[in-house]
Amino acid sequence: MESLLEELLEECRPCTREGHVATYIPELAKGDPSQLGIYVLRSDGHHYQAGDWSARFTIQSVVKPILLLLALMDNGEACVRARVGVEATGKPFDAINVTDQALLSEHLNPMVNMGAITMCTLIHGDSYEEKFQRLLELTRTLTQDPEVCLDEAVYRSEKRTGNKNRAMAFLLKAYGLLDGEVEEVLDFYFRACSLSVSCQDLASMGMVLANHGRLPHSEQSLFPAQYANYVNAILMTCGMYDGSGDFAIRVGIPAKSGVGGGIMAVVPTQMGIGIFSPGLDQKGNSLAGIQLLERLSNRLYLSIF
Ligand code: GLU
Repeated sequence: MESLLEELLEECRPCTREGHVATYIPELAKGDPSQLGIYVLRSDGHHYQAGDWSARFTIQSVVKPILLLLALMDNGEACVRARVGVEATGKPFDAINVTDQALLSEHLNPMVNMGAITMCTLIHGDSYEEKFQRLLELTRTLTQDPEVCLDEAVYRSEKRTGNKNRAMAFLLKAYGLLDGEVEEVLDFYFRACSLSVSCQDLASMGMVLANHGRLPHSEQSLFPAQYANYVNAILMTCGMYDGSGDFAIRVGIPAKSGVGGGIMAVVPTQMGIGIFSPGLDQKGNSLAGIQLLERLSNRLYLSIF
């Protein structure tokens, strides 16, 4: 397996030159697009890694499945579903008017920003500081990595420039979909996106989702199996932004990407995979990362289809 990963990684390395690091968060523009790493954790505890697997990067949108899990653990499925929908478009099959002056909870999706910002308000805690500590604790548990911490520079960079997210949050507020102070909610969201992780961390998280909510090699259940099912289903349909359909065809497993270049992938019952390469495609997904996952999926017959 290790030599397979090395071989595939070398095949995909040239394509790191075609990706572009995210620049809308100025700190992310400093990323090195030539980096490419992978970590595979199997359900039997064996792990395999290659390339820049130990590099640390910010989790960005890969935190969205964790926000969703915490919101589910705090509120239960019915409550979360009433506040944040699960459909890819949130529009009926014959929708023509996409600017019809209505924003409803069923238009939201937990894997894209408006839904994720709303989920931040569902997380329990007397203050946003307490909510953040609970998110950090859960992330450290899912990754089994006590070193997960806030990347201050990326957090400050996004807080300074994140006006699109501000616009979205005010729109949510205007439509009665966001409780609390917009700036406080956003501060929490920006901090959540700025947790510093590695490929190994993403593989460990993916493994818990693959293992119905249990840590591998342990009977300890971190959350009910039905929540793993809920999260994996949404990852499959919406985890790779508006490239999710293409990803389902090419790779065929639940996954979540982030603009920091990370991808967490879940092979149900079998393995968790963490990938990092900061050069992105036009949709904001790691370009070499997807290519590497596609080749791995083809070689190991991982697609669930
Ligand atoms: N913090 C980023 C934002 O909200 C996350 C985006 C992403 O990774 O998709 O713009």
